[in-house]
Amino acid sequence: MSSASQQRRGNQSLDENCIFCRIANGELATEFVAESEHAVAFDDLKPIAPVHVLVVPKRHVSGLRELDDPLVAAELLSLATEVAEARGLFNTGYRVVTNDGEVAGQTIFHLHFHVLGGQRLGGMG
Ligand code: AMP
Ligand code: ZN
Repeated sequence: MSSASQQRRGNQSLDENCIFCRIANGELATEFVAESEHAVAFDDLKPIAPVHVLVVPKRHVSGLRELDDPLVAAELLSLATEVAEARGLFNTGYRVVTNDGEVAGQTIFHLHFHVLGGQRLGGMG
């Protein structure tokens, strides 16, 4: 099985080859911006805005189409909101976005929501 298809396997508890599984489960010394029972938030390695935080499930989910647990879905969105407030974005506004699939620009096949703000953001498309 190719590594892309391995990463597309869908939901599983922990994929040792997946960088976001390793970050989310505390294997790498990453400082969390926020954490809840099933999700964590951490700064993007290559930010494209003054605030650029990623919100990810602790359990491996390859992308939005594989997200089948409403509890985790709700937690991801509330953690994104918590991050936006903690980073002072409530007054100015912000964007929450996820890319599903290569055509959309997904490069890491572990579901993540980008929380972007701190500057005027360009239009979509
Ligand atoms: P996407 O292109 O939507 O899959 O987004 C992947 C994001 O993950 C990009 O914004 C990368 O800069 C970011 N990224 C990749 N590796 C890391 C890492 N080790 N820690 C934090 N962010 C990362
Ligand atoms: Zn993963």
